Amino acid sequence: MTRKYVLLSNDYHDTQCVVSPDSSGYININQMRRAKKILCGIPGCTCSGNLGTRGPQDVEIEIDYDLHGSLCAIVHPLGELLSVQERKED
Ligand SMILES: [Zn+2]
Repeated sequence: MTRKYVLLSNDYHDTQCVVSPDSSGYININQMRRAKKILCGIPGCTCSGNLGTRGPQDVEIEIDYDLHGSLCAIVHPLGELLSVQERKED
């Protein structure tokens, strides 16, 4: 099975990061922290929010809380736009 990937970007630092949401578009807190670190990673920088994205994205991203009360991100839509970033497992 091919996993789906979403490319996130930050146009302030000119950085990009790939995340792999589950089949419902859910990105957990660990992936969010990783994305934030790659996209911004500068302590105290206010360029972006919890996910580190800034500027236009390929997908719509909603910041939410999961069933355990942890911060998470939900990617919309999961249809064609997400498939554009599809790539094979290493
Ligand atoms: Zn920043």
